[in-house]
Amino acid sequence: MKSAPYWWEDAPLAALPAIELPTRADTVIIGAGYTGLSAALTLLRAGRSVIVIEAALAAEGASSRNGGMCGDLLKPSFTQLSARYGKQSAVALYSEVRDALVFLQEVIADNKIECDFARVGRLTGALSQQQLKGLESEAEILRKEIGTEYQIVSGPAIHDEIGSDLYVGARILPHHGGLHPAKYAAALARLVRECGGQIHEHTRLLRYERTGQEFVLTTSRGKLRARDLIVATNGYTTSATSWLRRRIVPVTSYMIATEEIPAATMRQLFPTGRMVTDTNRLLCYYRPSPDNKRILFGGRPAYTEIKPEQSAERLMQYLRRIFPVLYGTSVTHSWFGYIGYTFDHLPHLGKLDGAHYAAGYCGSGVVMATWLGRKVAYRLLGNPEGQSAFAGIRHPTHILYYGRPWFLPLVQAWYQLQDTSARR
Ligand SMILES: Cc1cc2nc3c(=O)[nH]c(=O)nc-3n(C[C@H](O)[C@H](O)[C@H](O)COP(=O)(O)OP(=O)(O)OC[C@H]3O[C@@H](n4cnc5c(N)ncnc54)[C@H](O)[C@@H]3O)c2cc1C
Repeated sequence: MKSAPYWWEDAPLAALPAIELPTRADTVIIGAGYTGLSAALTLLRAGRSVIVIEAALAAEGASSRNGGMCGDLLKPSFTQLSARYGKQSAVALYSEVRDALVFLQEVIADNKIECDFARVGRLTGALSQQQLKGLESEAEILRKEIGTEYQIVSGPAIHDEIGSDLYVGARILPHHGGLHPAKYAAALARLVRECGGQIHEHTRLLRYERTGQEFVLTTSRGKLRARDLIVATNGYTTSATSWLRRRIVPVTSYMIATEEIPAATMRQLFPTGRMVTDTNRLLCYYRPSPDNKRILFGGRPAYTEIKPEQSAERLMQYLRRIFPVLYGTSVTHSWFGYIGYTFDHLPHLGKLDGAHYAAGYCGSGVVMATWLGRKVAYRLLGNPEGQSAFAGIRHPTHILYYGRPWFLPLVQAWYQLQDTSARR
């Protein structure tokens, strides 16, 4: 079993040619994931010169190790957002996520990116009748307020959608899709370089200060002065930007890939080839691989770091509960990455300590990091396209939080309790 992401088989991370780090730059972006690369591309196409510095290899963070699921949902429901910020803001936030999903598809089409994008739809399996009712009523609210189409399936019809007896029914969002995350990230990095942007790998921001009109960055490869700074480090944020670290909670998410499964079994398990999640608070997510030969399955079997063998065993146990036919199927890849969570479960963008940033996608960054990366670049340029409902929301921290998420085991225990009682 390999402890590297399955995605790297088809899109291996290869070191870019090393180039000398300049001493001065127009805009410096920290982090070469979807956020940083999308921001870089927008700035370059607007005529700015851009340097991206990346502590590891380009896209080695979450952007080449995620599930590749693309949707237009936020963690808080429309009802929760209405209660928190008022209905008008809830409409604005949900409308923007809908636009972001359309934008992702435009980016892929306009730039002819080959990343196995397919609009296969998403199925959210309900584990109880009550949860199914909840899914339906929230879907109906979104249909009325935003126009989001959905279908509800229940009873034996569920087997036309998924070959599992675990769910009493499901909500289908037919416009959602999936892609190959590492191919998508590699294509963005290629576009950035083709547009004249520099990506400096193995170059870590250690600290920075502002002197007059410029930033002085101390990196692991020397000093660099910049007019503008964008921080795009999400779940990998360090104390170099302690203001962001206090607002982003890194949550470990684990994934596995199964060995190849016979084609007939894959057809039986995924008759419609959808991306799948469920209604658990400790949710799991899974999908067929783009070639439809394996299952890629993700979840949070632990909030602390555990070994790939342990996470593989725990995820496989859950997968076998969904599809008992997989007893005897083995795991070929087991890996993890860090999701950037926030205290209000919403993505954020803005300006703190003089630097622009976008982060906190709470596990939905394929769409939202692409979108907010672009938005943050427009904001830096003073372009009205940079307007975003997400910029109007205060980005909260917690008085007892300094970047080490000591409370996550407690949260996990609480979610587990809620999941167990919801199934009773
Ligand atoms: C296992 C897993 C499954 C997921 N599944 C999905 C999914 O199915 N759908 C979905 O939409 N989202 C999913 N996500 C979330 C998604 O991957 C992220 O939201 C998205 O990749 C965030 O992109 P980013 O560019 O903001 O951050 P990242 O891709 O994490 O990039 C941040 C980069 O910053 C670099 N960095 C950090 N500090 C420094 C420093 N001081 N100096 C230089 N560089 C630095 C890091 O090395 C890293 O490469 C998943 C995430 C994980 C981990």
